[in-house]
Amino acid sequence: MGSLEKIEEYARQNKVPIMQKDGIKFLENYIKQNNVKNILEIGSAIGYSAIKMALVDDKIKVTTIERDENRYNEAVKNIDDFNLNDRISIILADALDITVAGRYDLIFIDAAKAQSIKFFEKYKSNLTDDGAIITDNLNFHGLTENVDTIKSKNLKALVRKINNYKDFLKENEEFTSLFYNNGDGISVSKKNIKNRKI
Ligand code: SAH
Ligand code: MG
Repeated sequence: MGSLEKIEEYARQNKVPIMQKDGIKFLENYIKQNNVKNILEIGSAIGYSAIKMALVDDKIKVTTIERDENRYNEAVKNIDDFNLNDRISIILADALDITVAGRYDLIFIDAAKAQSIKFFEKYKSNLTDDGAIITDNLNFHGLTENVDTIKSKNLKALVRKINNYKDFLKENEEFTSLFYNNGDGISVSKKNIKNRKI
């Protein structure tokens, strides 16, 4: 039997950045309220959010991509412990190197923070017309509001990229995005009606 507490404890001990409680609650609510059934996740880590999302309803299917082999192996174990093999399929790959078939009513981006625009552009064609792209870590522990106070060059560059992503979403003519402060900052982006195919 799987245990979410054990996965949370493993994440704490091994510094795996799984979703914060308030963020995962937001995601679960979105899935319930919008009757989401097919989910694509970029960034599985150890499978925590994929498992949480799959547990919302037993008709939900999740495809999730992870590039780190150790985390992938841990995720495979966790998904197996929950007997969710038939509803969660995990792919070991860099999400920018592969293409995924099919359409999803939720695409959850929770991978390399500097590459969110690339993930968004690459995977938007896998979104159903009334689906949403949800992105995590837009506040990045509050740092996005205070870029000028950051001393580390690398960190500053990363935080700037996250702010670029937010600007990209705000200025996007194809999608409209709403921003929430739940967890570490979340956006929900939906296709404008005029860009839908039907
Ligand atoms: N969604 C998970 C946490 C993901 S942490 C949860 O809440 O439980 C982010 C993960 O994205 C890391 O494990 C990292 O290895 C992975 N990642 C980063 N860039 C990636 C890429 N380009 N392709 C696939 N995985 C990526
Ligand atoms: Mg995250």
